[in-house]
Amino acid sequence: MAELHYREEDGRPLSQVIRNRLKQNNKRFWAGDNISEYVSDVEKEKLIDEATKAFEQVLDTLLIDRETDPNSKGTARRLAKMYYNEIMAGRYDPAPDATAFPNDSQDRYEGMLVVRSELRSMCSHHHQPVTGVAYIGIIAAEKLIGLSKYTRIAQWCARRGTLQEELCNDIAREIEKATGAKDLGVYVQAVHGCCENRGIMAHSSLTQTTVLKGAFKDDAGTKKEFFDNIKMQQEFAPR
Ligand SMILES: [Zn+2]
Repeated sequence: MAELHYREEDGRPLSQVIRNRLKQNNKRFWAGDNISEYVSDVEKEKLIDEATKAFEQVLDTLLIDRETDPNSKGTARRLAKMYYNEIMAGRYDPAPDATAFPNDSQDRYEGMLVVRSELRSMCSHHHQPVTGVAYIGIIAAEKLIGLSKYTRIAQWCARRGTLQEELCNDIAREIEKATGAKDLGVYVQAVHGCCENRGIMAHSSLTQTTVLKGAFKDDAGTKKEFFDNIKMQQEFAPR
């Protein structure tokens, strides 16, 4: 476990202290990694102060007058809070509590469960929004988690700097951890701000990724049932 004690008198920026802590523990801290075990809540507030100063510098460098432009006055702090508390919250918050219930009674559910989760993410390359849905399918194992937990887990994985391919893997891994299910599939469909707002400026940049494990990968019938379920969700979902 990391040492979370930060001494003010160090005189170093807190982010540097935490980076050293991560390196000493050989903990990777890429944009898509969760580092909640290494940053306390109190430190997170201090990091928001530090990031505010840094965003002020960026705005100054962009020659935006944050002293007299009323719309730009609080922008640096808004950006700092948004990164830590919203668009990258999945890096700093611990995994959502997904209490599992036993699924071992006589009449236990043995079928497939497919949950549709809306996602908001951000690409690591351009920090542009990624907006989409994940379809998470499992064959129920010995444990069941509440339906909303699938979405909470997916959103916790998404609210980081991600690549869609990695996000798909991350969701599958975390759902496997929370449910103990070995047979599962995750299908993500998303549009990427980095394709729509810059670069090729394509306004229908729909990207699809799929991760299949166990029977979803090896059994043609299970795989078909999963994709049929997704199609039904897309066609008949109640609004
Ligand atoms: Zn991008």
